[in-house]
Amino acid sequence: MKITSVECYKGPFITVKVNTDEGISGFGEAGLSYGACQTAAWGNCQDFAKLVIGLDPFDTEKIYEHLHRHTFWGMNGGVTVSAAMAAIDIACWDIKGKALGLPVYKLLGGKTHDVLRTYASQLQTGWKTLVEREDKAVLLYDPKDYYDAVKDAVADGYDAVKIDPCFAGLEPEDFATAYLKRGDNLKGVYPAALRRIAVERIAAAREAGGEDLDIIIEIHGTLDANTAVDLANALEPYRILYYEEPTMPSNPKVFNYIKSKTNIPLATGERCYTRWGFRQFFEDRSISIAQPDLCNTGGITEGKKIADMAAVYDIGVQCHACGGPIATAAAIQLETAIPNFVMHEFHNGNFQSKFRRGGKYDWMPENGKFYVSDRPGIGQEMSEEAMATYEKVVIGAGKASLGL
Ligand code: MG
Repeated sequence: MKITSVECYKGPFITVKVNTDEGISGFGEAGLSYGACQTAAWGNCQDFAKLVIGLDPFDTEKIYEHLHRHTFWGMNGGVTVSAAMAAIDIACWDIKGKALGLPVYKLLGGKTHDVLRTYASQLQTGWKTLVEREDKAVLLYDPKDYYDAVKDAVADGYDAVKIDPCFAGLEPEDFATAYLKRGDNLKGVYPAALRRIAVERIAAAREAGGEDLDIIIEIHGTLDANTAVDLANALEPYRILYYEEPTMPSNPKVFNYIKSKTNIPLATGERCYTRWGFRQFFEDRSISIAQPDLCNTGGITEGKKIADMAAVYDIGVQCHACGGPIATAAAIQLETAIPNFVMHEFHNGNFQSKFRRGGKYDWMPENGKFYVSDRPGIGQEMSEEAMATYEKVVIGAGKASLGL
């Protein structure tokens, strides 16, 4: 089998469709549709697509090495590089599964989980508010609203939630303004009023969910080491399951410092790319949960290796899942296979119409759990509507070239 062309799509999500000479196509995603790197990721997908024309999609290790080592910037390449590698890799796994008539998890070693426990993620924007408000994001400010959001998630069957209690400041602002300001006042010392409101929000969540609710604290890397420790100590009485990106993960030694000052297990991963990006956190054993994003860390090929490396250190894994339907499908396939899976992340944003209409299948959690599909491949494709409306560049047949 040979890859004949790659369709690169840019819309609400950055996706690729890899086509072959046997008429089988696979879908992949580059996990940079939010933030400010969409166009770079789409371009990187096009650059790398040229290099896989004529290759066998079954050769995912060879393709990984090719894109990693033969592209000059592939080695230690950064997030747009590993996101483009991921898009192509996931599409190749999708092709393999479809060609063999098997779901991808079967090719990764089979099921170790029949059901994926799933948590309701990012409740600082409420639960299902993006549906009620026609996809317009809002932030919750009043602790009572956090109480209600947790009650709503629990009513939908979830027994675990994730909340960023310091995303919203003290006074209500529109989402975009708050987004640009977050973390600005949280360096060196944690102002008492901001710490108080953050703690009150989590206290409300604990009250709403009762003692059996698992609460993950999300910080999005916006604190520094001092304020992260301060907040962790203030939140410790509320029994926090883990503390995600308490600070940015650029310097793993800072995680060692935070770990030495708190009993809350630490987590990170969405801003760590490839095995090399996780290595120091594993060797230090500073984190208890690794959160690789398959769509920006190199794909299923790389994600499996990261998960296996984590297992050596008794570190659990949950994929960071904040992208489109292809990203969710790929995460579910890997998480079904790996023994050190912890919980699947169901992002509140995935209630949005762009997610639910972006995939061929409306594949959503049921009563707080995800069930893997037995459809061949990753079990998801772009919808016809998405393929018709996203911007599209087709990289077709031709001699593979580095442009040298
Ligand atoms: Mg996160």
